[in-house]
Amino acid sequence: MDTFRDFKRYADQVAETARWAARKGWAPATSTNYSVRLPDEAAPAICAITMSGIDKEQLNPDSVLAVDDQGHPVNGERLRPSAETLLHLMLYRRRNIGAVLHTHSVAGALLSRLAEMEGYVSLSGWELLKGLEGIDRHDCEVRLPIFQNSQNMAQLAAHIAPRLPDTETCYGFLLAGHGLYVWGKTLPDATRHLEVFEYLLQCERAVRHYD
Ligand SMILES: [Zn+2]
Repeated sequence: MDTFRDFKRYADQVAETARWAARKGWAPATSTNYSVRLPDEAAPAICAITMSGIDKEQLNPDSVLAVDDQGHPVNGERLRPSAETLLHLMLYRRRNIGAVLHTHSVAGALLSRLAEMEGYVSLSGWELLKGLEGIDRHDCEVRLPIFQNSQNMAQLAAHIAPRLPDTETCYGFLLAGHGLYVWGKTLPDATRHLEVFEYLLQCERAVRHYD
């Protein structure tokens, strides 16, 4: 990437995050995607995002690309961005956030189907809720919305955008039978939120006897 001299630093961060999530077991069979917002000086690039169809445990910065607001690669046609780039871009448009992380954990896939009729997974009473920015008590309720899955990412992004709760402490959603999307103001915030949600989904899975 020669249009933005600091790109390598951002690509390193994205690659490191992808490898970390894969080591956790949240990225089976080349699935999942990860991005960070780029600064204004990187325009027209909006974010740095992992390329499609690669084992995330082996991912290196050369497999991270910059995309514009249409999801097209800014740094040449060599790499194909993740199929779900449009969901990342929708979140960057709607929220003042710095990173979006998407995983395919067993707990996320399972609970998103089992609670699909309710439309959300209710998380309450867990100490680790305090790992979410702005939450300082365990005895509150955080709802993780669930949306129906689709292979048409443009339609899916348009469906989800107006339905995301406007609450400050909304940091993620589930796609039914698919996985978890999480974000944060910074990449460390987003990775902490991801750990919180993955941990709490495992707790809920056990408490609800979904094993
Ligand atoms: Zn996915």
